[in-house]
Amino acid sequence: MESAVLDFESDYFTLFKLQEGVYAAIAKDHSITGANAGFFDLGDYVVLFDTMTAPKATQDLIRGAQFCCSKEIRLVINSHFHGDHIYGNHAISPSIPIIGSLDTVKMIKEYTMENLAKYQKEARKEIKSLDVQLKTETDSSKLFEINSDLDFYLTISQHSYNLRLPDLIFNKELQIQGSKRSVQIIDVGAAHSVSDSIAYLPDDEICFMGDLLFENVDPSWLDKKSVIPFAVNPKNHLKVLKKYADKELKYAVPGHGKLAPSKLIFKSNIEFLRLKYPDAFS
Ligand SMILES: [Zn+2]
Repeated sequence: MESAVLDFESDYFTLFKLQEGVYAAIAKDHSITGANAGFFDLGDYVVLFDTMTAPKATQDLIRGAQFCCSKEIRLVINSHFHGDHIYGNHAISPSIPIIGSLDTVKMIKEYTMENLAKYQKEARKEIKSLDVQLKTETDSSKLFEINSDLDFYLTISQHSYNLRLPDLIFNKELQIQGSKRSVQIIDVGAAHSVSDSIAYLPDDEICFMGDLLFENVDPSWLDKKSVIPFAVNPKNHLKVLKKYADKELKYAVPGHGKLAPSKLIFKSNIEFLRLKYPDAFS
């Protein structure tokens, strides 16, 4: 059973030790840092899976890896192109390569960058409005949210801000062989997004699933008007979930939400896909 790393503090996430050398960073319940991440010790170095959103959250991940494994992060994986998983890329030292699938890189260039430019355009206005909110808000969790948003907008409006693209681009599958452990980075193709990569640690029976899994599938997302992106290719999404559900993993780490028994989380997500996209399964 996982245990929280109690002597490590971050405002953004709780660290859980899943196995010796394998950690999940589960976001605390604040909007801007909603995406989870994780890292694993391959023997001589640590690999980070996703970089979160807030710059300080990424710095905490780097600190967490050093704290738990006494080693440096030497490689970073981007699960998919959605900003909440990769905006933290800019806080990764240029000497540390970032890995992404062919289509993830394409989508970051075509979509994430464009989206970011929109945020950058709105930054001045947003900063002004957040400053006003700061003066009147008294609720501590709201204050944290406002400060995180402020930090985000201030960071992206700096001239030096650069959303790093992955430097190592792979097609379909990549195995990283460490001295103690190996990890398979698998691009499952279009499922939740145009390209979703997972980090599978077969010997540990652990898989970091990115946004292929949500711990808490909200029934309100079933509403046709809901804009929550869940699956661009529901058929393939379902196929992948079934495949990994069959492996009876010890842990399937979701892209959002808490850790939960893998059997339950796969079941609820598969059921949700069927309800949301009945046409795709007829
Ligand atoms: Zn996503």
